[in-house]
Amino acid sequence: MATKGIVFDVKRFAVHDGPGIRTTVFFKGCPLRCAWCHNPEGISPRPEIMVFPDRCLKGCRDCLALCPKQALRKGRGTIVLDRARCDGCGACAEACPSEALRLVGRSCSSEGLMEEISRDAPFFSESGGGVTFSGGEPLQQPIFLKDLLTLCRLEGLHVAVDTSGHAPYSDLEAILPLVDLFLFDLKAVDDSLHRQLTGVTNRLILDNLGRLSGAGAPLVLRVPLVPGGNDPAGELERMADFCASLPRRHPLHLLPYHRGYAAKLKRLGRGPAPTEIAPPAEQALREAREVFARRDLSVTIGG
Ligand code: SF4
Ligand code: SF4
Repeated sequence: MATKGIVFDVKRFAVHDGPGIRTTVFFKGCPLRCAWCHNPEGISPRPEIMVFPDRCLKGCRDCLALCPKQALRKGRGTIVLDRARCDGCGACAEACPSEALRLVGRSCSSEGLMEEISRDAPFFSESGGGVTFSGGEPLQQPIFLKDLLTLCRLEGLHVAVDTSGHAPYSDLEAILPLVDLFLFDLKAVDDSLHRQLTGVTNRLILDNLGRLSGAGAPLVLRVPLVPGGNDPAGELERMADFCASLPRRHPLHLLPYHRGYAAKLKRLGRGPAPTEIAPPAEQALREAREVFARRDLSVTIGG
């Protein structure tokens, strides 16, 4: 029986979410609140409206009468959304002629989504690519994820799951035979720093990583490098020690933070947007790479 879930994007021809050319499906909903999150539209599990005030056509007002919750009103040369009233029905976004209102998040069935994914299968086989389930956190919708993984397996598609690891181990164990590659994010090993950066303890995450490694799961570790975030003195060394202490060695990708989240936060009404963090300098990247390479870990910058 087809299951249903909520996704906020399906990105075709992705080249940074695993090997080859991939279709990346972004699940909506995440238990973490990373200070630098590139996909803040993936945090809430519910559909929501992004507002692009500059695109609003003066004098149009097509959306106003359509809103069943009276959540929209005229502002100065644009439209203003009262998020406390909005239930994410999407009627306004559908009517807006200029995409000043955009609905992020749609409910879809596993079978419908598979039809979308399967159209790209010829590109997967030519490039050694496949499908990546990302987010948000795909394991926030474990039944939907497992259903999709099973359908991908039936079609012989290579599948990667990009996860924060913050999920019950039983959910990870249930999908283990269906996953070709876990892209496992590691943000900080110091628990108080992890709480400060993400809003949650890392105990479950580190425990899950150790168990997956011990169970022989194919893993790539993904460490974001966030200046002023997870790079205080000693933390990179702690992360490298932790990675080197896992039951097996896994390739590690260092992901330089890049700009982009502040504008999205504003469009989601989660402002005022914080000051943008500058991406790490080349020198800082080289030094970070050295920290991991000294433990004989295979390190790639980017990925
Ligand atoms: S429908 Fe779109 S362009 Fe028209 S008033 Fe509403 S937000 Fe502005
Ligand atoms: S999504 Fe629905 S409830 Fe929210 S503003 Fe648009 S029409 Fe109104």
